[in-house]
Amino acid sequence: MSTKSLPFDAALINEISEKYPTPFYIYDEGAIRANVRKLFKAFDWCPTFKEFYAVKAAPNPHLMKLLHEEGCGADCSSLAELLLCEQAGITGEEIMFTSNNTLAHEYQKAKDFSAVINLDDISHIDYLKDNVGIPELICFRYNPGPLRTGNAIIGKPEEAKYGFTREQLFEGFAKVRDLGVKRFGLHTMVASNELNPQFFVDTAEMLFTLAVELHNELGIRLEFVNLGGGMGIPYKPEEEPLDLDFISAGMKKSYDALIAGTPLDPLSIFLENGRIITGPYGYLVTEAIHRKETYKNYLGVDACMANLMRPGMYGAYHHITVLGKENAEADQVVDVVGSLCENNDKFAIDRKLPKVDMGDKLVIHDAGAHGHSMGFQYNGKLRSAELLLKEDGTVQLIRRAETLEDYFSTLLPL
Ligand SMILES: *Cc1c(COP(=O)(O)O)cnc(C)c1O
Repeated sequence: MSTKSLPFDAALINEISEKYPTPFYIYDEGAIRANVRKLFKAFDWCPTFKEFYAVKAAPNPHLMKLLHEEGCGADCSSLAELLLCEQAGITGEEIMFTSNNTLAHEYQKAKDFSAVINLDDISHIDYLKDNVGIPELICFRYNPGPLRTGNAIIGKPEEAKYGFTREQLFEGFAKVRDLGVKRFGLHTMVASNELNPQFFVDTAEMLFTLAVELHNELGIRLEFVNLGGGMGIPYKPEEEPLDLDFISAGMKKSYDALIAGTPLDPLSIFLENGRIITGPYGYLVTEAIHRKETYKNYLGVDACMANLMRPGMYGAYHHITVLGKENAEADQVVDVVGSLCENNDKFAIDRKLPKVDMGDKLVIHDAGAHGHSMGFQYNGKLRSAELLLKEDGTVQLIRRAETLEDYFSTLLPL
């Protein structure tokens, strides 16, 4: 069982909230750095292993910069995410541009940045050629379709919009080889929030096998395989974190069997995780503002689904701690709700919590990836501030809260 510990207590949060009113996000710098070091250490047998942080998980250049300091690149899929990389000082082949249904101006910027362009479809070879030109290094995203089962969140690969079929992969690589491309990579992503470590070992084996087949059939030598993101985190206290050492050892075994000692050696292994990198180390802090007792008991807080939509969108579990009552008995059953005029605006349903007093601060755990970034302004709600709890214990504002001026700024006068 994983424990849901916190890097702060009620006193610190109350002090912070005097300067930065709730709701706000707070990220734990020390824990993020330690976590990334653990990931790189797990793969230290592969000297060219690299993690490209999936920018969409937490698109804040302050976080991207500290991840870059720890050796991470960035995985982007839009013009804005490319520009965030520029701000964070991430350039060239430290950027993977894994987009889909991509616009020409986005490819242009990726090419201007010398980012690694990962094509999602065979038709994009000509689109790229006609609009921006073919770069010297190119990567294709593979969708194994019926050859692989997906997982609950991402669904069946056959029904996913992403990637090339197996046949298209061979045809596409032959085509770009004939267009003069010299450097090649292969990408796939077939899981999301997956907690079974064997799944990633199987994915690596699938890509290593393809690397061998592509070499044999087309005479091309892949430089890297990129397994995408999708590693899961234990949102529920009873879940276990993924065993990275198991994954790494399984991949090494497969690498030794298929790649080592062949002309494909060395073949780099890339990942582009978001969730496991920052997810557990970001928290949404909110204050209890109303208690309502009707057919059910509701606890109203000052954050809403616009701040964190995972529970409302896919019924995701996020653990909640009532600060200052960490050890109190959880003897109340409540729905923890926001203020949107949408009945799925609930952070938790039938959750057991200690008795909450108005003004208590609640911490919603595991919000450090796909949390703030999925925010929206429906119902005139504003996105919250993001804070960084630094290693020296100080707190830095890394994104201010939106204001009503921001909300009205795109409207034209009547
Ligand atoms: C979303 C996404 C990721 C990151 O997913 P996580 O679940 O955060 O690890 C990586 N690569 C691509 C192409 C994605 O779309």
